[in-house]
Amino acid sequence: MDVQLTQEQRIIKDTVRKFLANEIAPLVEEYETERKIIGKDIFKKLEPYGYAGGLVSEERGGLGLDFLTYCLMVEELSRTWASLRTMVTSSALVTKLLGRMGSEAQREKYLPRLLAMDDLACFALTEPNVGSDTGSVETKAERDGDHYVINGTKTLITGGGLADLVMVYAKVKGSKGLTAFLVHKGESAFEARNIRKMGMHCSSLAELAFVDCRVPVENRLGNEGDGQRIALSGLNEGRVNVTFAVVGLGQAALEASIRYAQERVQFGKTIAHFQLVQEMIVEMALKVDTARLLGMRAASLLDREVQCRREASFAKLYATEAMVEVCNKAIQVHGGYGYTSEFPVERYFRDVRHLTIAEGTTEIQKLLLGREILGVSAFA
Ligand SMILES: Cc1cc2nc3c(=O)[nH]c(=O)nc-3n(C[C@H](O)[C@H](O)[C@H](O)COP(=O)(O)OP(=O)(O)OC[C@H]3O[C@@H](n4cnc5c(N)ncnc54)[C@H](O)[C@@H]3O)c2cc1C
Repeated sequence: MDVQLTQEQRIIKDTVRKFLANEIAPLVEEYETERKIIGKDIFKKLEPYGYAGGLVSEERGGLGLDFLTYCLMVEELSRTWASLRTMVTSSALVTKLLGRMGSEAQREKYLPRLLAMDDLACFALTEPNVGSDTGSVETKAERDGDHYVINGTKTLITGGGLADLVMVYAKVKGSKGLTAFLVHKGESAFEARNIRKMGMHCSSLAELAFVDCRVPVENRLGNEGDGQRIALSGLNEGRVNVTFAVVGLGQAALEASIRYAQERVQFGKTIAHFQLVQEMIVEMALKVDTARLLGMRAASLLDREVQCRREASFAKLYATEAMVEVCNKAIQVHGGYGYTSEFPVERYFRDVRHLTIAEGTTEIQKLLLGREILGVSAFA
């Protein structure tokens, strides 16, 4: 693996960083203080940089970026605004799956607006009674002529309150396994209710209720029973994507802590002089670097189409747990101010926390890795 970025990757990272600093960073404080949900006008600003279509091939209207480059963009976005990052990458996940697995008619109908960031999408698998055990989905779909009728509730859906297109996973009556459907708000009726949460106050996290929701048969993605395969197809990419999302927050927390340690004076010197403060900063920097390297290794394996279940799970598991520690330490470096909203580090801590849970919890990653390493499964 090459640990140095290519010149093109460096240029893209720098360009995106400058754009985010000028156009997006100035919005963050007001939005977060007022807990305003980010609107489509802000998503639209990201369109030229390929945040929606970076992973869609050029023939299908995307940018066809390599995965590592896209991850570098995700890190920068997360470093700037985690609330925005989470909705952008959820929508991009559905856009990517549609680009790869959708029929020609589905792609023609939905891709252009998603790629232009005029529409947003969300990925709806989790339910009130269904989390880690994704095979036990309770949402039902029943064929009725040229439609399916969907009944069920999805919960904890990122971007659900804003999304135009929902990728819904359901069990079709009379068929085995899960089936994926594209449910468009303009064509099929469902209700969305925003859920309050600990962090990422400007992103929507919603419960979606489908009551006799009629979806045209042509909106089924793949065949009946293909849902699990579709959901799992981007699993390793999802884990690596999340790795870079938390690294972005860890990097922001580290930078804020270095700045603060070099400015804050106690006992007649800046606190950067104190060995225990240096220890905190060095440990934070080491964790951020290690997490990024694990992410780069997995991303470069994905780019070369090499099997990397273990590397992707290692990256996700390590990075999410380590970045919670990094963001927590950033509060300690800031002392009492770190606990207040006068500095951004309390937000980084709240924002980073959910990623040891979403995209496969820490415990599930450990079980998967245990199976991979020991050859026996601890799953029932
Ligand atoms: C902010 C946020 C955004 C999300 N966005 C989305 C989204 O866009 N789309 C979507 O579909 N879902 C989304 N989710 C849901 C997420 O995928 C689930 O929360 C996650 O899969 C865990 O499921 P659960 O919360 O039901 O926990 P559970 O599965 O109920 O787990 C509870 C606890 O038990 C542990 N546990 C479970 N099974 C085992 C086992 N076999 N062995 C050991 N420990 C176990 C877990 O690790 C966890 O600690 C989001 C969640 C959050 C918090």
